[in-house]
Amino acid sequence: NPLLLLNHNSHNHRHLLPVPAGVRVPPRRVVVTGGAGFVGSHLVDKLLSRGDDVIVIDNFFTGRKENLVHHFGNPRFELIRHDVVEPILLESKERNDIHYFMSLRSKLNHGYKTNVMGTLNMLGLAKRIGARFLLTSTSEVYGDPLEHPQKETYWGNVNPIGVRSCYDEGKRTAETLTMDYHRGADVEVRIARIFNTYGPRMCIDDGRVVSNFVAQAIRKQPLTVYGDGKQTRSFQYVADLVDGLMALMESEHVGPFNLGNPGEFTMLELAEVVKDTIDPSATIEFKENTADDPHMRKPDITKAKELLHWEPKISLREGLPLMVSDFQKRVLEE
Ligand code: UDP
Repeated sequence: NPLLLLNHNSHNHRHLLPVPAGVRVPPRRVVVTGGAGFVGSHLVDKLLSRGDDVIVIDNFFTGRKENLVHHFGNPRFELIRHDVVEPILLESKERNDIHYFMSLRSKLNHGYKTNVMGTLNMLGLAKRIGARFLLTSTSEVYGDPLEHPQKETYWGNVNPIGVRSCYDEGKRTAETLTMDYHRGADVEVRIARIFNTYGPRMCIDDGRVVSNFVAQAIRKQPLTVYGDGKQTRSFQYVADLVDGLMALMESEHVGPFNLGNPGEFTMLELAEVVKDTIDPSATIEFKENTADDPHMRKPDITKAKELLHWEPKISLREGLPLMVSDFQKRVLEE
């Protein structure tokens, strides 16, 4: 077993006292796993821009160096190629060196093992060095929900042996582990449940509906609507999510918190917004839906509004155009 040598002080989270509004947060060193990915890289941009030091750990299965290349050469930025399924040895000379672990995770990486082993390894690191741990969980913990909109108190409706269950149950287990380390080992933790998110740097080919529709419209291909297209999702722009994660990081609340945009759309409505934004002449092609597809999803964000003073600001019609030029550039490069 590799030894985890980080620093001797297991109580440096004591430096993370509540920050009064308007007071500048002192710079910290933050480890972001999955930091080369879509959401992770936007979070890294934000952390570096406010003066934090950032160490990104990414296995580059779905993350891309292009998402971070603008930080290469910045002495406050480090990038490590590593799969968090394996433990990692991070050494540091100074005490109180690492303050925070933020764990981002792709939907593609063989869901269960990555979520469970990765979370376990990072919780172990956080425990050893006394850092805070922020878990980015998912609205998928609610499964095909029987409560609508979904509040954090809802326990969910997940098929444990279904085709989606590796991801759903992986995140549910990650939440369980996070709370176990919090209660049993006194690790300071934060849990965000992230709803569908879109924006620049989203993977073009991971099969998500927004990236599919936008890429299809740009390539002059029909938009593929699965099933009857009446299932709903609520789409949040990535900058809103990053603001929510930052607010949660600084807050004194464990969560879980729903971070999502309550604006709810059927897939047919989404296709209309994509057509209006990119190509009004785009056509729709219906395809068979996948099994266990949630019929509806919409966050209740009352808790985040009240306790984190956060709510999303960018509507789907405002946000979609902001990802088009990035997608156009990448589709052209193919
Ligand atoms: N979907 C679709 N066309 C696509 C990809 C997805 O109609 O090309 C549908 C899918 O069946 C689901 C919804 O869009 O009902 C959202 O799928 P996605 O994979 O983006 O997110 P998730 O299901 O995880 O919310």
